Amino acid sequence: MTKLYYDDDADLGLLNGKKVAVIGYGSQGHAHSLSLRDSGVDVVVGLAEGSKSKAKAEAEGLTVKTVAEAAKEADIIMILTPDQVQAQVYKESIADNLEAGNYLFFGHGFNVRYGFIEPPADVNVALVAPKGPGHIVRREFEAGRGVPALIAIEQDPTGDTKDIALAYAKGIGGARAGVIETTFKEETETDLFGEQAVLCGGMSHLVQAGFEVLTEAGYQPEIAYFEVLHELKLIVDLMVEGGIAKQRWSVSDTAEYGDYVSGPRVVDADVKAKMQAVLEDVQNGNFAKRFMDDQANGGKEFKELRAKGEAHPIEAVGKDLRKLFSWIQVEDDYEGTAAR
Ligand code: NDP
Ligand code: MG
Ligand code: MG
Repeated sequence: MTKLYYDDDADLGLLNGKKVAVIGYGSQGHAHSLSLRDSGVDVVVGLAEGSKSKAKAEAEGLTVKTVAEAAKEADIIMILTPDQVQAQVYKESIADNLEAGNYLFFGHGFNVRYGFIEPPADVNVALVAPKGPGHIVRREFEAGRGVPALIAIEQDPTGDTKDIALAYAKGIGGARAGVIETTFKEETETDLFGEQAVLCGGMSHLVQAGFEVLTEAGYQPEIAYFEVLHELKLIVDLMVEGGIAKQRWSVSDTAEYGDYVSGPRVVDADVKAKMQAVLEDVQNGNFAKRFMDDQANGGKEFKELRAKGEAHPIEAVGKDLRKLFSWIQVEDDYEGTAAR
């Protein structure tokens, strides 16, 4: 079994006297900067001139500088801008400000794995990737818990990069939950596959298709929403607690039997073969190329797909229905596509 590292295996003291520049203040960026700061680490946030997030970060008491200034004065530079702009930000504002022995960190291996960023050999390169959305990473940290994290070491000229990465993971709460060592290749490929085939792509489209089947058959959209979207969380919570077996134990025998006989009719050998094709496109770089080419074209395809997704009828039904839920405690701070 793979080794898990916890708080006792990591020494926050290794970050004493080191300055961390967190580049970007979005989902992961705000979580890393605030939690590192709360862990006693010297943090500076690097943002582009005229950034929307500057005021937000400053209101939290953080120091904000330009990306170049932050990178220059830092020993550890964590790049947390969206993957598609990292290569450009690196080239324009970070590369010239790297010194031998600096630590260049990433929250996802994408740009290094596919060669969009090639750091110099005298710089340490590592990954500290929490396995959860940034807002949950921060929420868990504040609650005294953490989200599990992956670390990977790509370049280690100073020989202590793993200890520094573990200390960083501890600073954002990851070592409270457990840290696993991987490689940039494994993290990137499994992360892309997981989000495409199962977590985001697979799940979103399964839910949409289920909603369409029920509403096209004449059932009320509100009932369809409850059945295929709302209840999902309750099922997933059980899976996370005790595996698929616990979920099957908790549902009725009717539901469990239906799982066994109908699940394989929906997710059949054909679906599995298509998942393997998705993995191939991740491994051979076709997905990365398609994503980056579209970004170079202004994200035209991306924006069209986003608008199409947001226009699916399940969104309007859910929006109205959630207003009536007095029991949903989680703050819904998503403002919709228009605000993006
Ligand atoms: P976000 O989209 O939330 O990052 C937005 C931040 O990046 C904003 O502060 C934005 O500035 C800044 N930014 C955007 N473009 C530029 C630019 N050209 N120059 C400088 N700053 C810029 O990113 P995520 O947090 O989603 O992702 C960051 C990294 O973490 C990625 O590598 C991702 O794969 C990885 N990751 C993300 C997870 C997540 O939960 N979202 C989970 C695990 C890993 P402004 O405020 O001015 O708009
Ligand atoms: Mg991802
Ligand atoms: Mg039911």
